[in-house]
Amino acid sequence: MSGAALPQEVALDERDGLYLRQAIALADTARARGNRPFGAVIVGADGTVLAEAWNANGETGDCTAHAETSAVRTASPRHAREALAQATLYSSGEPCVMCAGAIFWANIGRVVYGIDAVRLRGFRGERLDQRDAELSCRDVFAASPHAIECIGPALIEEASASHRGAWKA
Ligand SMILES: [Zn+2]
Repeated sequence: MSGAALPQEVALDERDGLYLRQAIALADTARARGNRPFGAVIVGADGTVLAEAWNANGETGDCTAHAETSAVRTASPRHAREALAQATLYSSGEPCVMCAGAIFWANIGRVVYGIDAVRLRGFRGERLDQRDAELSCRDVFAASPHAIECIGPALIEEASASHRGAWKA
């Protein structure tokens, strides 16, 4: 890992911790099924789980089958934009630029994520085909005309565990 300053961990309340741990569990499901280890859960204002998904890139061959985008694809047709504005998307890892765009288009108002993109690069290694576009989800959200709250990195140790040894091949 480079000498650049790493993002500081954010403390979560009990509810956010619960759902972020669900997203991390889905990351482990993704990995067990032969995908990159990412998971996402979308939760409504009343605590109802509106959608959950794991990264399915490996098992489907679909490069857009990231956990967050797949969860948005499930939730968006089923729930009003007003309801999604009150929802939180929990992601085991910091959303990429594509997923940040999907979150914007879905009108989801809040994001909580586990491991940040900077630490993820440490797991991805130096292979160019494994590298993420280096544009922060916060930069995408900052360009949105509606506010999108973004909280993370959080539960970094737990979120990192899914990635140990997962990027070697
Ligand atoms: Zn993504």
